[in-house]
Amino acid sequence: MTTVFSAQRQTETEAREKAHSAYRLLRPFLIYVTSFTACGQLSRYIRPGYTIIGTNKTGTTLAAYDKAGKKVVVVATGGTIAMKYDPEKDGLVPACTGEDLAAAVPELANVAPLEFIQFSNIASPAMTPQNMWNLHIKLEEILARDDVAGAIVTHGTDTLEETSYFLDLLHNGPKPIVTTAAMRGAGDTSPDGPMNILSAVRTAASSQAVGLGVMVCLNETLHAPAEVTKTHSAYPATFQSPWWGPSGYVDSDRVVIRRKPLNVVRFAPKTLNARVDLIKCMTGSTRDYIDFAVSQGCQGIVIEGFGRGNVPPGMIPGIEDAV
Ligand code: ASP
Repeated sequence: MTTVFSAQRQTETEAREKAHSAYRLLRPFLIYVTSFTACGQLSRYIRPGYTIIGTNKTGTTLAAYDKAGKKVVVVATGGTIAMKYDPEKDGLVPACTGEDLAAAVPELANVAPLEFIQFSNIASPAMTPQNMWNLHIKLEEILARDDVAGAIVTHGTDTLEETSYFLDLLHNGPKPIVTTAAMRGAGDTSPDGPMNILSAVRTAASSQAVGLGVMVCLNETLHAPAEVTKTHSAYPATFQSPWWGPSGYVDSDRVVIRRKPLNVVRFAPKTLNARVDLIKCMTGSTRDYIDFAVSQGCQGIVIEGFGRGNVPPGMIPGIEDAV
């Protein structure tokens, strides 16, 4: 009996060990499926329009913004991205509309339905604070529509960071605004505009970008407007975010955000009515430019000082009188 019993016990032990090793083998899969299902159920109660669809390759939880059929609106303002070489003028001239730009990127059709608005067609040194304000109003109107997931702005590189920062200071909604540009004209050899537009549209259509304000997208890299700057007058990877680095990047089929800007201050002014001048310090600066700015009726002056905001002694009397 004992023998029979121990033999039986041995069979039971072997069966238990087999079952346990099978469980150890299947456990990761079971955990994934369970969490996947739980997330799926849970997401119904988290936020309407968002569905957690598990994790992607990099382990970042994707929250697919319910953008079924929602559009990305391309707002074109001009810049090299939309320029072609004119032999008569021997230079680049505004030549392409938003539609022309998209026609050079067939893949866009697989990303999101598009709509085009030709806001302006100017080289970006001609951008003014008033233009930027009007662009802000236009973008907020567009993003308020239910059929819109996000918007991109094509722009010149020279003042891209200024316009992007201006828009970011005033963009209080969750939908993405992605600004982009190009270092090579539409008619140049291997223009960078098409890939920049594709990456910008991918980002504007992505749930990863929801709630991040405005992002600057060139060279498949994403930057926060308050941190990015143009570092070279010709190099395609000219936009860099010194010190903190980019916010993320656009891979062939996905948007990867690695950092979210913190301490972003935003405003909601009703109008743009104050003239504020910028005076850059140079060695030997005096009060002259400050007095001139005040004489022109500006309501504020930003002085770009040295180091931690030091200014040449000759400026101080002008600053004291101006305030
Ligand atoms: N060269 C500039 C550009 O890259 C011209 C501009 O900013 O409009 O777009």
